[in-house]
Amino acid sequence: MQVTLWGTRGSIPRSMPDNELIAILQSSVNRAKSMGILSLDDFADAARDGRLGRPLSYGGATMCTEIASGGQQVYVDMGSGFRDVGTLALQQGQKEFHVLLTHMHWDHLIGLPFFLPLYSEGVKIHIHHIHKNAPEFVKIKFNGINFPLKWDQLTASVEFHQHKIYEKFKIGPLAVVPFTLDHPGGSFGYRVEHGGHSVVVAVDGEFKRRTRKALGKDLVFFQGLDLLVFDSQYDRLELDSRFDWGHCTPTVGTELAQREGIRAVAFVHHDPWAPAHKLNAMFQEALDFLATNTPEHAEVWKARGATGPKLIMGYDGLVLNVDKL
Ligand SMILES: [Zn+2]
Ligand SMILES: [Zn+2]
Repeated sequence: MQVTLWGTRGSIPRSMPDNELIAILQSSVNRAKSMGILSLDDFADAARDGRLGRPLSYGGATMCTEIASGGQQVYVDMGSGFRDVGTLALQQGQKEFHVLLTHMHWDHLIGLPFFLPLYSEGVKIHIHHIHKNAPEFVKIKFNGINFPLKWDQLTASVEFHQHKIYEKFKIGPLAVVPFTLDHPGGSFGYRVEHGGHSVVVAVDGEFKRRTRKALGKDLVFFQGLDLLVFDSQYDRLELDSRFDWGHCTPTVGTELAQREGIRAVAFVHHDPWAPAHKLNAMFQEALDFLATNTPEHAEVWKARGATGPKLIMGYDGLVLNVDKL
C-alpha cells in the first residue's frame, strides 16, 4: 500500500514569499558549508538527496491524499493538489478516478475545475461523499459564473455516490469505512484497508473528543492502524485560542498514536501562514512529546513489537510506502 501526499496545506493554497525563500537558502548554505560542500553542483545534489534536510519547503497545495493498493487508487479530497494528480494521470492514460470527500470546504474542492481529465474523452470520475448536498455544492462551481464552464459542458462523466457513516463499501479491492470528525459543518474521516494494511485520513478534525470514552463509536477506526494522516494545522498554544475552528495539533495525533498502537502518523493540513521553520519547530515539539510522554496503554506497543509510533511531517509530493513503515 502506498500513500502520496499531493497537497498538505489547509484553508488556502500558499506561495512562498521571497523572505522565506532567502531564509531557507541561508540556512541550507550554512549547513552545506559545515558539511564541506563548496560547489554549486554539490550543493544541488545534497539538496536533492535530502542531506540538507527534508523538506526544504513544505509546498503550498491544499489537501489531496492518494491511497493506492492492489492496483486501485483512491484520492481523499480535491484540494489544489488534485490538479497535479490530473496532469500526471493524463500522461499515464488513467481513465477512471475514485475520490472520497471529507467535507465541502473550498480548500478541499478547489482542485476539481483544474483537473484536466475532466475535459478528456472516456474519463469517469466517481465522487464518494457523506454530505447529502455534496453534488449541489460541487456543481455550483460550474455554473458559468463561478467558473467559465458549465457542468453539462464537461467532457468526462462524473458520478456521485452517497454513503452512510460507519457503513463499509468497496472500491475495487479496497475496503473503505467513513466515520465522524469534529469540524464545523461536519467532516468525515476514512479508513481504507487492503492486504492486511490500513490507513486513515483524518482531516479536518479538531479532536475535541480525545479519550477512548469520548471517541465512542469513532475509536475503533484509529486502532491498530499502519498510518494515520492527521490534521495538524496549529501549534499547541494556537490550538488553545482556536476552539471550534476545527483543526488540531501534532502532539494530539502523537498521543493518539501512542495510545492506540498506530504505527506511523503523517502530519498535514498545515497552516497556510506557517513558514517552513515554524513547521519544523512544531514537528520537534511532537518528537519531544513522544520522547517524554509515557503511553497510557503501553501494552499496545508490546503487541506491536515496537516502542512507539513513527512521526512524519507531511509535505507536498511525499510518497509513503505503508508496508515498510
Ligand atoms: Zn481544510
Ligand atoms: Zn474544513
